[in-house]
Amino acid sequence: MAAGQEHPAVPPPDGEASAACPAHLVQAAAVAHRALQDLVQAAALESSGRAADPPSAAGLHLHWHPGVSPAELAAEAFRHFSEMSSVARVFTSGRAYCYACGGADCDHAIPALAGEVFTGYESTGRPCWQEFFSFLLELGDERTDRLFDEQPELLARVVGRTRLVATQLRTFGRNSFTYRVWGQVVAGYLQVKGTRAALSAQIVEDQRHQLHLQVLAAPRLREALADAPQDQHSACGRVYDAIAETRRQTAALGDLWQHANRREQDDETREKAFAILRHLAHSIEQKGRQQWRRTQHAELRAGQNRPVHKAFDDMVAASVQDVYTDRFKQSVIVAGRSGRVHAFSREGRHITSLMLAGDEFDRRVSRGRYVHYDVQNLEAFRASVLAALPAAKPV
Ligand SMILES: [Zn+2]
Repeated sequence: MAAGQEHPAVPPPDGEASAACPAHLVQAAAVAHRALQDLVQAAALESSGRAADPPSAAGLHLHWHPGVSPAELAAEAFRHFSEMSSVARVFTSGRAYCYACGGADCDHAIPALAGEVFTGYESTGRPCWQEFFSFLLELGDERTDRLFDEQPELLARVVGRTRLVATQLRTFGRNSFTYRVWGQVVAGYLQVKGTRAALSAQIVEDQRHQLHLQVLAAPRLREALADAPQDQHSACGRVYDAIAETRRQTAALGDLWQHANRREQDDETREKAFAILRHLAHSIEQKGRQQWRRTQHAELRAGQNRPVHKAFDDMVAASVQDVYTDRFKQSVIVAGRSGRVHAFSREGRHITSLMLAGDEFDRRVSRGRYVHYDVQNLEAFRASVLAALPAAKPV
């Protein structure tokens, strides 16, 4: 059975063409025909969001037989119109597609800052970027504070398509195949020339239904990844390897999907794509851990220099200006002399003391991790801290 705009909305029940058919059969068919027209209209609207100027139904063929489920019929109509409203674009490696500007050449196509990851599309189809840690917080990832440990962990997270297009309007590419992100891995931070850098690795389907692995990162990280293979010991080198493996797996999956009956393989292919993304996330985190294992010795020595014994003196000397709150660990920070900082619970229990090298303290303030804590009653807080620090009291 085929339905499309080239057919009249309702065939004439008593026309010449139906002379050979009993009238009640033609009437039953007219009901089915109207139902199909409704489906076609709904699919056209859903795919493009354009009620006034819906995409053409020319070339649409809906295949119906008793074994077809309503969901399959709906998917077939929906896919046709989504394809009709997509644009065949040469896939641009390293740049997201911006539906607002209709291309990948604008400033919106790459992160403005090295620490930013792709977080989805705005309503008008413009790519959104956000600092990696703040996106992780938004996702409710409880490991976020580990990004700021003395030996920070490399974290990765898989994000599905639903979240990425949640606010994107249909008129601005929500259902388009021009640049269709199936899902992605966001990961960070990698240290590149003293900067914290993050990346987004997406599996993207283009208008010809080819699958690509798209890596979105600031130019300096892209360069560092590209230069890394010679240096297998760096985190960048290891992440580069993980990405290269993912690229091969994505290409193989895409090939398989192209040569199979695509529609029947859709769900299975999507599941496999997510397995590839999960593997990438796991593998990036593992590469980070291998890196730290090698530096454990150095970490141990750093730990021995923790200035816990100075917590008492620094707390006694602290003024209101020396008290901060750590937004990631939800602790109270008291800044001491020569880069010493002490972390306390809100109730005044001592958690840890550490030395921050160089301008790390100022950097934590400037990037908003440490903010001044408006401690209501400094004397009461000081008293509870000192009372809980008997071991540190001078004898
Ligand atoms: Zn743009």
